[in-house]
Amino acid sequence: MLSLGIDVGGTKAEAVTLDAEGKILARQVVPTMKGAEGVYQTIGALTGRMQECLGVEAKAFTSVGVGIPGLVDPATGVVKTAVNLDLAEAPLKAMLERDFSVPVAIENDVKATALGALRFARTPASLTYINIGTGFSTATVMDGRVLRGKSNGAGELGHLVVEPGGDLCGCGQHGCVETVVGGKYLTVRMQGLGVDLRALFNTDTDRAKAEVKRILCAMRTLVEAVLTAYDPEAIVLGGGIVEAAPWLTEAVKTVFEEDAKESEFIAGLDPAARIFELRTSDPVAAIGAALVGRI
Ligand SMILES: [Zn+2]
Repeated sequence: MLSLGIDVGGTKAEAVTLDAEGKILARQVVPTMKGAEGVYQTIGALTGRMQECLGVEAKAFTSVGVGIPGLVDPATGVVKTAVNLDLAEAPLKAMLERDFSVPVAIENDVKATALGALRFARTPASLTYINIGTGFSTATVMDGRVLRGKSNGAGELGHLVVEPGGDLCGCGQHGCVETVVGGKYLTVRMQGLGVDLRALFNTDTDRAKAEVKRILCAMRTLVEAVLTAYDPEAIVLGGGIVEAAPWLTEAVKTVFEEDAKESEFIAGLDPAARIFELRTSDPVAAIGAALVGRI
């Protein structure tokens, strides 16, 4: 069994090939080219390298999965919009199936990463992945399957309002968790404060402390919503903002540890024991894409 998984990111694309046991046989990275044709060529370049590395032809892959940011219809394999890739309405599945002899599965990258993160979680039956990058996006896997719901929106809590009447979000609401913790908004506020996000937690000014409190308050609301809605065994934080703010994961855990002293309810949920940070050295998104291909 050779499962090819491809994660198409905004700047780089990464591929892994897994064997039947899920062991990584090969890993390749190339820069991402933009637009529908660019993404297609990027995947072609990655696949070519992978074939060379493994000494096989394209028809040797027994499953192929692709994770891509944006709105994806996994049933048709059409990517509706992927703003970071300058891509709108691309029939990526159909384009790629010309090159492989197996069906190609296309999935939103955060959902694919949630599947990939299962492999690294301590208790891997159910997991919520919280991706904090430019935007804020979450996905939940229960019993090894990505939650979808009626319109593929289940488990996506990035536009949960955590500050009613707060900042206007791109979605048209005010005070979504994305407007508080998403990189697009957070970076602007950090510039206003004149503080680097990495140093924010230890910056001893009232404005910096208020900013930390605001971020942690939003994260607390979001994590509690995840816990009460899905009760996952693990909540995994990842993405550029989590890397840029190495204090964030521990600080969120501390908030819950403090609250657990006051609340039996929170103590019973024990959020701090379920929160983990994604290890960025692992190609989790590409592994997840490979697992999407197998389903
Ligand atoms: Zn929103």
